[in-house]
Amino acid sequence: MKNRIFLLYGGKSAEHEVSLSTARAVTHALDFDRYEVTPVFITPEGEWRPGPLLEGPAGHVTDLKIGENGTDAPARLTDGIAALAAQTPEAPPVVIPLLHGPNGEDGTVQGLLEVLDLPYVGNGVLASAAGMDKVIMKQLFAQAGLNQVPYVHFIRSEWNKNRDGILDESESRLGWPVFVKPANLGSSVGISKASGRESLIEAIEEALRYDRKVIIEQGVDAREIEMALLGNDEPKCSVVGEISSASDFYDYESKYMDGNTVLTIPADVPKKAAEEMERAAKAAFKVLDCSGLVRADFFLTMEGDVLINEVNTMPGFTPTSMFPLLWQNSGLPYPELLEELIRLALERYQEKQ
Ligand code: ADP
Ligand code: MG
Ligand code: MG
Repeated sequence: MKNRIFLLYGGKSAEHEVSLSTARAVTHALDFDRYEVTPVFITPEGEWRPGPLLEGPAGHVTDLKIGENGTDAPARLTDGIAALAAQTPEAPPVVIPLLHGPNGEDGTVQGLLEVLDLPYVGNGVLASAAGMDKVIMKQLFAQAGLNQVPYVHFIRSEWNKNRDGILDESESRLGWPVFVKPANLGSSVGISKASGRESLIEAIEEALRYDRKVIIEQGVDAREIEMALLGNDEPKCSVVGEISSASDFYDYESKYMDGNTVLTIPADVPKKAAEEMERAAKAAFKVLDCSGLVRADFFLTMEGDVLINEVNTMPGFTPTSMFPLLWQNSGLPYPELLEELIRLALERYQEKQ
């Protein structure tokens, strides 16, 4: 009997398009002799629909029968998933939630999958939620004693009441330039760099379009180095990779569009810095209670200091993305990486039972 996979992709998030490329690549790499795949597409409006399969041979797709009762699409679809899963309770299908950003990478979909009692690839509810919120993530990093940039944070209502206070706090605690970010997002959406009070106000207004919570960080002039982790209780670390972008910073265009971004793997960093990154990446993984996979992103300053920037609990996963490339350069090619992620999902699920 073939193992079954539910591939969740798309999603109601600014990173919808990124998820589509990831889903295409994952489908392409799946071994259709071993797996029967049920694609589930989430539209940008948040509606859940069956398929289509973005790549791969026809005839290997199980149709999802969506019940006629009710009007709520996710509910009808989860009914469909539960019905399919109930056909073989001894071998539950593994869900691969290939969703980035809010409503997918942030614990919401993970919570739904917990309720449905299905094994799924990647991080659980807590790690996904904590990793999505840059403020909570940084507070936990601080708790774990990790080095990071100083920051200031606030919510929309505080900004509306006390603009000057927030601007003054930022100016007194942080030097220019600063980076202003919506707390809950990824792919650099809504992020801008500000070098004075006027541009700071604009940057804040921009970030508030995406989230009610905003973080202002001290800007650093640093190399950007990333490391991939894979595992459950005792994650393994990949080699490190470096991102060099021709843009002012690693913004959305340089991530996905302009072709001027160079990934260097393995990155040429001093042994001491690489060791420090491995230690910090594992500590970050642990303090957020991660499982499956994480990409830990660092700044390496000109003075040689290692600062953790963030972890991504569902990092970009196309064959040209950093996470799979780091593993490929660490001896684990893309299809095997996928196998390992599915294995880790089942391991975590079985441990819970
Ligand atoms: P995302 O989760 O959207 O990737 P990041 O916090 O990683 O958000 O920020 C995106 C990019 O912006 C980083 O890769 C880096 O190029 C730049 N950046 C973010 N914060 C800083 C900072 N404090 N100092 C310097 N550059 C930064
Ligand atoms: Mg991120
Ligand atoms: Mg980032």
